[in-house]
Amino acid sequence: MKIGGEARFFVRAETEDDILAALDFAREKELPVFILGGGSNVLIADEGFDGLVLQIGLQGIEENEGIVTAGGGEDWDAFVNFCVEKNLAGLECLSGIPGFVGAAPIQNIGAYGQEVSETISAVRVLDLTTKQIVELSNADCEFAYRSSIFNSTQKGRYIVLAVTFVLQKEGAPALRYADLKKYFGDAEPTLMETREAVIAIRSQKSMVISATDPNSRSAGSFFKNPIVDVTQFENVQRVAAEMGIDNVPSYPAAESKVKIPAAWLIEKSGYSKGFELGRAGLSENHTLALVNRSGDARAADIVALKELIQEKVFASFAIDLHPEPIFVGFRD
Ligand code: NAP
Repeated sequence: MKIGGEARFFVRAETEDDILAALDFAREKELPVFILGGGSNVLIADEGFDGLVLQIGLQGIEENEGIVTAGGGEDWDAFVNFCVEKNLAGLECLSGIPGFVGAAPIQNIGAYGQEVSETISAVRVLDLTTKQIVELSNADCEFAYRSSIFNSTQKGRYIVLAVTFVLQKEGAPALRYADLKKYFGDAEPTLMETREAVIAIRSQKSMVISATDPNSRSAGSFFKNPIVDVTQFENVQRVAAEMGIDNVPSYPAAESKVKIPAAWLIEKSGYSKGFELGRAGLSENHTLALVNRSGDARAADIVALKELIQEKVFASFAIDLHPEPIFVGFRD
């Protein structure tokens, strides 16, 4: 978002020993530590972070018979490109996503019908409670929609060092979502064509970071798509009917729940693409992206817009929207 103050201390760790040394330093100085990946899904407070920011810069990719292990500091999209070039299927729909490999399992990133939990076989982590390096299996991670133990029950306990994926050699691309199916019609695209299509679709929505696209000065989707129970969904349908809308977009979710696109709720609450609030605003190409519209927005501008939207969506539909980016350095 190009927003936020400075870190009191910053280190980019290139080795596992660097990480241990940085943690020792923080412990000696009694500093809070924030573990950073690529920095694309964070909102940093204007005051900055009064502690140590530890960026995981571990590099390296190894591939053998479709089993690929990448260091937590590898660039995610370059890693996806590496796999697609080797004709390994399983990550092609996750093209164009900013950030690092180590962040992928944290919220179980997903897009266009693929989630990393489908292909992750192991996550190598540093357990901060025992100071041991261990390997967690897919089941250990308890993956669910945009969630894992890393952002729920065991939040803050582990640093992801490397991730292993089991991909399908010469596999077919996953064409599950309407946007992608529409793009190809009856054609049978290759993995690389699918990757390029995903990037093209994301770019149209300003969801690929580009220096020449001010609408991409965002943290991607700012709110999670809410998953609600049937009673809440019926309430949304009732409110929509009063607005003269008889079709609320929705998708089935686990435990008989319903997923409603957050973008739809925001639009029907009165905020469209391009809405402006001071130096912040909604992307002109995607309702769900809060952008640093002017280029010199402050974190406080983004927070003001976030709160306005949350209040209005709750007032309209009785649904709480939860932000997806991590808030760093805010006092609450
Ligand atoms: P979109 O494609 O307009 O979809 C909006 C919502 O509708 C999402 O909740 C999506 O579910 C759901 N949806 C659409 N088609 C579906 C289908 N065939 N079956 C089930 N659910 C369906 O969303 P967008 O904002 O432009 O984003 C494109 C993709 O990137 C989406 O898959 C979105 O989830 C993903 N994304 C992921 C992250 C993340 O991992 N943190 C951040 C931003 C965007 P899903 O969310 O299950 O796909």
